[in-house]
Amino acid sequence: MAYLTLKNINKIYPNGFHAVHNFNLEIEKGEFIVFVGPSGCGKSTTLRMIAGLEDITNGDFYINGKRANEMGPREREIAMVFQSYALYPQMTVFDNIAFSLTLHGVDEEIIEDRVKKTAAILGLTDYLDRLPRALSGGQRQRVAIGRAIIRKVGVFLMDEPLSNLDAKQRVTMRSEITQIHRETGASTIYVTHDQTEAMTMADRIVVMKNGYVQQVGTPKEVYFNPRNVFVAGFIGEPPMNFVKRPVQDGKVYLDGQEMDLGRRLGKRISEYEGKEIIVGFRPEFAHPDTGENGQDVYRLFGKVELTEMLGDNANVYMNIGEHRVILKTAPDAIPEMDSVYRFVVPVERVYLFDAETEQVID
Ligand code: ATP
Repeated sequence: MAYLTLKNINKIYPNGFHAVHNFNLEIEKGEFIVFVGPSGCGKSTTLRMIAGLEDITNGDFYINGKRANEMGPREREIAMVFQSYALYPQMTVFDNIAFSLTLHGVDEEIIEDRVKKTAAILGLTDYLDRLPRALSGGQRQRVAIGRAIIRKVGVFLMDEPLSNLDAKQRVTMRSEITQIHRETGASTIYVTHDQTEAMTMADRIVVMKNGYVQQVGTPKEVYFNPRNVFVAGFIGEPPMNFVKRPVQDGKVYLDGQEMDLGRRLGKRISEYEGKEIIVGFRPEFAHPDTGENGQDVYRLFGKVELTEMLGDNANVYMNIGEHRVILKTAPDAIPEMDSVYRFVVPVERVYLFDAETEQVID
């Protein structure tokens, strides 16, 4: 049985705004789930309903098989880490971490022991006497996490906990959080708008848009088998290239260059004859056309407009007629500006979407 079950959960705010629509998910003990999506898609609202900080308008929520819709936040055995850290500024790191245990009247010796162990996990041993204002952003975030994990609860909820950190700190904390998650054995639900955080941290990702779940899957599933244009474009950096074209004789033409979609879809392409289709391919799946790429590729070319050297690879922005696409190349193989660049995309790496429904055709 799943540890947390959300069945047809909806949130309608008092002003009538329907923020979350029919959210369904089962979360296993020990799973790391990431809710990802653009601002306003309902991630925090869903998290707050799980925490008990926001009423569930309708639907059923179960913790360990027990209906929890009406349970108070404390009863739920859930700890939450907020974006703002929410530390007590006048308390030392020790007292901040100890706070929930002190509140529950736990024995002082036990508190001391648990705070020390928690601080050791988080690398805060040397800072226990300091006040929050004398800590860096990353250290404050660790205190906030320490305060949550000391409670040994079944579920950790984290709402954009890294958004106040700089890029380097975020990378470090990402791996620290996943490691802490593994050590505690609890389930974690982590909210972010950053697809890289979602991809690197999650066991399963829940992609949301406008209050609707778009897809639930492992990082590999949402990357390799996106269900619709939104997921395909949201996961991956730079985003997938999309070109919307009418199908003529089973083919689409990009500035006169032909892509025979029958090679990808087989006979089913006839269903799309005369209709528009969205062709997608990821920047990293394009490779230079060496003439020896085999048969199972689409061959295309375009004019290089801009290149960006990133170190481990480079982005090449190019135009195929009116269509702007981005490709990745090796850093030592960046084409010249304004040159014509020939590339191939493996047939199996081309995604086709129904232009009307934006759902993948598979
Ligand atoms: P962000 O990444 O910006 O935090 P989010 O995906 O977490 O976004 P939510 O905070 O869950 O989004 O908000 C979802 C939608 O509900 C938004 O359109 C928001 O404006 C709306 N909303 C949030 N709180 C309320 C409220 N108390 N009353 C009415 N609408 C609200």
